[in-house]
Amino acid sequence: GTGLMAGKKGLILGVANNRSIAYGIAKAARDHGAEIALTYQGEAFKKRVEPLANELGAHLAGYCDVTDPASLDAVFDGVKEKWGKLDFLVHAIAFSDKDELDGRYLDTTRDNFLRTMDISVYSFTTIAKRAEPLMTDGGSLLTLTYYGAEKVMPHYNVMGVAKAALEASVRYLAVDLGGSRIRVNAISAGPIKTLAASGIGDFRYILKWNEYNSPLKRTVTPEEVGDSALYFLSDLSRGVTGEVHHVDSGYHVVGMKAVDAPDI
Ligand code: NAD
Repeated sequence: GTGLMAGKKGLILGVANNRSIAYGIAKAARDHGAEIALTYQGEAFKKRVEPLANELGAHLAGYCDVTDPASLDAVFDGVKEKWGKLDFLVHAIAFSDKDELDGRYLDTTRDNFLRTMDISVYSFTTIAKRAEPLMTDGGSLLTLTYYGAEKVMPHYNVMGVAKAALEASVRYLAVDLGGSRIRVNAISAGPIKTLAASGIGDFRYILKWNEYNSPLKRTVTPEEVGDSALYFLSDLSRGVTGEVHHVDSGYHVVGMKAVDAPDI
């Protein structure tokens, strides 16, 4: 490691297993000297997350389901007690009923619309509010988004609408928290085969499409997202806030592949 993150303490929400994007970010932050804390969504997740926390030398900050405000209170109280402050926070949480990540957006139910927005969008705002008083030396908040916020991607449906709202939240929170020297940014990651992604219809085809059509001719890994996250979580990006940064092998810049371009 470089020591880039030395002395920084960060809470990372959204590790489910060792394929999670949050795990890639946790590893990068730890490798470069950060002290980190992880949460788990419930007992079933604890069995997976606890060994990963041990492996990373991370503090286990306990159970956290963003639909349960008492669990959020407990996590932030715990962090305050242990560290007294926070330098960075990673939000890598999203959820939608997988039956609605297939077929038409038009068929979204009100129930799932509200649940998707609550877990995938509002959670970032309430977490930012809880982090603010702990970020006494300023801080960095980072969330994860996807290109489906900007353009229509097959099957992304209500999650695309939620990611658009999440990206708008990044900008509003950047203004609200700028005076407290807290920066708010998002990484828009290319498709990666994770637990959450397994709910999206035709995901293998989406991965192949990115491989064939992105400038780098491949997909990205959680480790690569983690390395890019270091820029946002460290002081290297101290002049940057409100930004959505693509880590997607360049996919988002391509309008159309050249007719004679090879597939790979
Ligand atoms: P993942 O399944 O490893 O992580 C999703 C996490 O969300 C899990 O840890 C889960 O516990 C958590 N979560 C869901 N509901 C929750 C709740 N009610 N309370 C607390 N936690 C809850 O999958 P991932 O792909 O690493 O997802 C992380 C983030 O990255 C998500 O925001 C996702 O939308 C985003 N993202 C993923 C991709 C991709 O292709 N995998 C691409 C771009 C963005």
